[in-house]
Amino acid sequence: MLEINAVHSFYGKAHILNDLSFSVGKGEVVALLGRNGAGKTTTMKSIMQLVRPRSGTVLFNGKDITGVSPHKVAQLGLGYVPEERRIFTDLTILENLEVGRQKPREGAPVWTVDALFDLFPNLSERRANRGKALSGGEQQMLTIARTLMGNPSLLLLDEPSEGIAPVIVEEMAQTILKFKSQGLTVIISEQNLHFAKIVADRAVIIEGGQKKFDDSFDALEQQPEVRDAYLSV
Ligand code: ATP
Repeated sequence: MLEINAVHSFYGKAHILNDLSFSVGKGEVVALLGRNGAGKTTTMKSIMQLVRPRSGTVLFNGKDITGVSPHKVAQLGLGYVPEERRIFTDLTILENLEVGRQKPREGAPVWTVDALFDLFPNLSERRANRGKALSGGEQQMLTIARTLMGNPSLLLLDEPSEGIAPVIVEEMAQTILKFKSQGLTVIISEQNLHFAKIVADRAVIIEGGQKKFDDSFDALEQQPEVRDAYLSV
């Protein structure tokens, strides 16, 4: 579904992604792992074309989306949830969801407000509350739910477990597993190996903008030296 081929991305003169390649199959949940500053966010932004790769290509369902505007990339069915929460604080939860509504898309799960409230019961209970009344974890969930209202076929979640209470982290993991069971393809960027292991089928580890590992979590367990070298655990 997604193929990243030999991507090099820069911020000005700073060379951040260096010959990065990996692919994601339909229905897979892939965790992008790596320390702070490894290049996980830049990888997501390079997929969304918020950072345009200086060379290399990004293919989505076989179509080259390199250099396409981020707005068009989203229209093609890529949903991106950045690390910083993006909700409308003065709108209610329900209104926030309505703002995200897009037409159903072929080959992607179709979400309704009711289905999302089933998935996020905390949001359902507070549907008439304004965004600003929510906790950090709830804002994170609302951002994800609003992105799903766009009916993406591929969801990119940047550090969904970051800065939220442990009990909510567990809930978040179960929720991501439910997306998967609906046929959604997901890439998550994570520093939390425990969380990644629960939700993802495969780990792609990056360091210094280069891929260092791409295999199952079982394979990662067999190589503790890889974990010790590239992850903070
Ligand atoms: P984090 O967990 O901190 O978000 P990350 O793995 O997502 O880490 P990136 O945010 O992709 O890493 O950052 C990769 C490198 O790019 C870091 O060295 C960072 O300092 C640098 N960087 C990120 N954004 C910019 C920017 N706008 N301008 C210049 N350098 C940047």
